[in-house]
Amino acid sequence: HQGVFVLREKRGVIYPLDYKYRVDTCYPEYYPRFVNAPTVITLVGLPARGKTYMAKKLGRYLNWIGIKTKVFNVGEYRRRAVGSDKLHDFFRVDNTEAYKKRRQCAIACLEDVSKFLNRGGQVAIFDATNTTFERRALIMDFSKNHGFKVFFMESICEDTDIVAANIKEVKVFSPDYVTVDRDTAVDDFRERIKHYEDAYQPLSLEKEGNLSFIKIINAGEQYLVNNIDGYLQSRAVYFLMNSHIKKRSIYLARHGESEFNVQKRLGGDSDLTVRGEEFSFALARFIEDEKLNDLKVWTSQLKRAVDTAQYLKVVSTERWKALNEMDHGIYDGMTKDEIKKMAPEEHKVIEEHPFNYRYPRGESYSDVCARLEPVIMELERQSNVLVICHEAILQCLMAYFLDHSSGELPNLSIPFHTVFKLTPIAYGCRVERYPLFVTAASSAGSASDK
Ligand code: ATP
Repeated sequence: HQGVFVLREKRGVIYPLDYKYRVDTCYPEYYPRFVNAPTVITLVGLPARGKTYMAKKLGRYLNWIGIKTKVFNVGEYRRRAVGSDKLHDFFRVDNTEAYKKRRQCAIACLEDVSKFLNRGGQVAIFDATNTTFERRALIMDFSKNHGFKVFFMESICEDTDIVAANIKEVKVFSPDYVTVDRDTAVDDFRERIKHYEDAYQPLSLEKEGNLSFIKIINAGEQYLVNNIDGYLQSRAVYFLMNSHIKKRSIYLARHGESEFNVQKRLGGDSDLTVRGEEFSFALARFIEDEKLNDLKVWTSQLKRAVDTAQYLKVVSTERWKALNEMDHGIYDGMTKDEIKKMAPEEHKVIEEHPFNYRYPRGESYSDVCARLEPVIMELERQSNVLVICHEAILQCLMAYFLDHSSGELPNLSIPFHTVFKLTPIAYGCRVERYPLFVTAASSAGSASDK
């Protein structure tokens, strides 16, 4: 032993610096007391292997399906503790001083993980390299003390082109490199990777076979899934196995203006107006100019959305029931003013609780989010897709891709006759907005179709 490192004297928990005694055998069997115990999803992998990318993306998905999740990035703790000007020497295996500091940062971050999970959080995503048995044993110990489940997510990438692109397109823009030029940053980051390689111990089936984990190999070429424990972990696996990192864009558009839009009526299944038809032409021209040879087009099953796709030069369009507009129940076909007059109290509730309000015999935004889950998953799997549907549905899709809260979702603006192009980049989505300059009822201040 190099000594005993006392981290949390107050609670009498002592973590030895060297966990060899465990690593040589295997972690002891450990089951938290509750099936629904909070979970620490722990990333494992060398730098530039997409850990932060996957952490953020999975976090966004879990929050969207209603699981309270937060990502904890140890790099941010390190920068706060020792500054953001540390070059590769700081990450050398033989730099004992720096190693201690990095370990302390990981522990400080774990302390915040426990605060979050003890105050109602359901999943904490612990985003760090965690590349040694010792570090993973520490995380297991920490979780055991708190009664948390642990699920490891390891990214192994031997595709040098992917790693090089990750360094060039993402890593050189890291806060670690604000004061150095790009070439220096690239060289320094490659050195940093080498230091981690010197100490790297991938998750081992032999030594860590009783842990729950997924190994993602070469950005999704292969997966190895081990000892999955419960609903949440299987949802995470399902999500990860459906995601990819190929370049592509998702185009979102509301259907062209319909007769009901002009009359400010909710829902229904009315035809396009002349202006709506004009938008269909304009949309076809816009998509032609994008020069995509593999575009898939999805519409709802409602006439106004199907007809908006009519001039597109694609082999076929697919009609999804799940993309139909929110069901307004007994208020379908009415205007907002009519609802206000007929049921003033009800109208007040709609205004006060827009996300959770469920139209009698109809749906709420929350219901719509739930029914869109298969659409979201399929969008994750696809390359270029154009989705033509309705305001409430597009608000939900935008909230997912742009990470908006349920409070913000009902206020997202989705104007008529505008195409939104979403392109995944580093840790999020770039949004481009293309108004196609065809006037519509909403731009004259009238109601939308919800
Ligand atoms: P570090 O340890 O330095 O924080 P990291 O492993 O967190 O690095 P990211 O910052 O997440 O790496 O790298 C982002 C890039 O990784 C993005 O360009 C993304 O396309 C790519 N990426 C996403 N998933 C994977 C994967 N499974 N394997 C390799 N690259 C991936």
